[in-house]
Amino acid sequence: MSSQDRSMITLALSKGRIFDETMPLLKAAGLDVLENPEHSRKLILPTNRNNIRVVLVRASDVPTYVQYGGADLGVTGLDTLIEHGSEGLYQPLDLQIAKCRMSVAAHEAFDYASAVKQGSRLKIATKYINIAREFFARKGVHVDLVKLYGSMELAPLTGLADAIVDLVSTGNTLKANHLIEVEQIMPISSRLVINQAALKLKQPLIRELLDAFVVAVNERNSALNESAR
Ligand code: AMP
Repeated sequence: MSSQDRSMITLALSKGRIFDETMPLLKAAGLDVLENPEHSRKLILPTNRNNIRVVLVRASDVPTYVQYGGADLGVTGLDTLIEHGSEGLYQPLDLQIAKCRMSVAAHEAFDYASAVKQGSRLKIATKYINIAREFFARKGVHVDLVKLYGSMELAPLTGLADAIVDLVSTGNTLKANHLIEVEQIMPISSRLVINQAALKLKQPLIRELLDAFVVAVNERNSALNESAR
């Protein structure tokens, strides 16, 4: 069954943090995913609603699946969304999950502030080429960008780069590798994205799901505010 079937809604999620943090919101919206992706090799997971299913894709592929209609909606980090571009995607809701920030980090022995002040050309390693290019261009800092697909923290330790642009949550990974967060670029959280054509063609079902998500996010936020008092 393809996601072109008007009676079926397909939700794209990635395993790990996004899946784990989306589950409570789905539950609150009345949706139970019937298999645990950590224990199953299936890529299409049924839910308690026979017209809604979940597909598991790589985090960086979620916008592509939703853009081209392989899924009707999905959950993706703002980092991934900016890197991918948001053409064809409706972004109605910040789910405020998988929160972290995009930052610049350098080795503790590297004087980043002086290098920037002196107008040095910096070598920056990152998976987030577009975000890094835009950030340094706005600052008027000349950079050579080196594209990596993982373990960015290693680059300044091996002389591959002067600094990195990466996601920081607790800061523990940086600390363990003698790196210091020298600039914060932007706060990051996960967003609900919807295929614009699906929004029209499958309007009632998608609306219902979107409304349920909005209620679930508001209730979760109220509960968090309450417990913070
Ligand atoms: P931390 O040590 O808690 O600061 O986490 C940093 C590591 O986790 C880095 O390798 C990041 O790329 C990754 N990371 C942190 N937050 C997120 C997130 N919300 N989504 C994806 N990766 C993340």
